[in-house]
Amino acid sequence: MIFHRGDAEGFSGRQFVLCALCVFTVFFLLTGCVADVPAAVMPTLAPTAVLPTAASQPALIPATPTGALPPITPSFTPRPTASPTPPPTITPATRLTDYETTRLPDYETTRLPGNFAAAYGVQQSIGRTVDGRSIDSYSFGYGTRKIVLVGGMHGGYEWNTIQLAYRLIDYFTDNPQEIPADVTLIIIPAVNVDGQFLITGQDGRFALEDVALITVPGRFNARGVDLNRNWNCDWVAEAEWNGRTVSGGSEPFSEPETRALRRFFLRQRPELVVFWHSKANGVYGSGCEAVDEASLALGRVYGRAAEYPVFERFTAYPVTGDASDWLAEQGIPSFTVELETHNQIEWRKNLAGVQALLNELSVHSE
Ligand SMILES: [Zn+2]
Repeated sequence: MIFHRGDAEGFSGRQFVLCALCVFTVFFLLTGCVADVPAAVMPTLAPTAVLPTAASQPALIPATPTGALPPITPSFTPRPTASPTPPPTITPATRLTDYETTRLPDYETTRLPGNFAAAYGVQQSIGRTVDGRSIDSYSFGYGTRKIVLVGGMHGGYEWNTIQLAYRLIDYFTDNPQEIPADVTLIIIPAVNVDGQFLITGQDGRFALEDVALITVPGRFNARGVDLNRNWNCDWVAEAEWNGRTVSGGSEPFSEPETRALRRFFLRQRPELVVFWHSKANGVYGSGCEAVDEASLALGRVYGRAAEYPVFERFTAYPVTGDASDWLAEQGIPSFTVELETHNQIEWRKNLAGVQALLNELSVHSE
């Protein structure tokens, strides 16, 4: 059957079906068996035979419903970490008041032995806040010399220290070659995550637009305790902050956040712990009784590179129950970096300070 271009308009669907069936039958008789027809031939024959049938149209709609596509969250920037599981979702109703009783995965046992390349930048929870939010750490490198950097001890009140921590997490995710082979850098972006949430509405990364105008309430944890007055060095219940009375807790380590950190530090035994605060502009040494010289020496390395003034002690007002002082007492060197502002991360200065520490604590300290 031959037809010309002019015939096509009057060529009905029914005729088309019959024609197609004829072609198919002839083809079937020639080949003898459908199973022998090469797979590539089948798609051209089958749609031709059913094309005029309106009932076949739904088959053209893609099988995957659009609702199955992953949701796009504009505020979240995926990091190229190899963490196989997303961060756990915290149910606000779950109030965990004591980290030691909560059976969270242990930091050491949840590492990925033998799979270190995939673990770079891995996120681990080291404990929970009063309101059950995760206190996260991010680990970079595989060396035995551990340096821990801690932001957000004072939560949303010092939100710029949390932003600085996340910026460094991004930086070392992108620049793994900067971590010396014998060093592991661990960054804890926020200790007082509840205080951060109070001010920003977020318990992880947040944007500048998220930050509330009044930030002072975000300094304290969900029980109103100043977490940098809750450590067991010169601890008092009625502590001071810049002329005000603040709560140091009911006893040393009365708060789940400080207990989680204590446990983490004593297990990891880092070579150095740095706390970022704001905004007293300077690097401050530590020590429960006398000034700890090892801490001060490392503080000078950071201060010189970052161009912050270095002080043996913070003397503007008495500070009791301080984390850095307690660590020095445990033989773990530690100092505090007070940023110069409350709303800048002072990026170049602090990157230079951290890079100087990485250099100092690798080959140079042998
Ligand atoms: Zn502070």
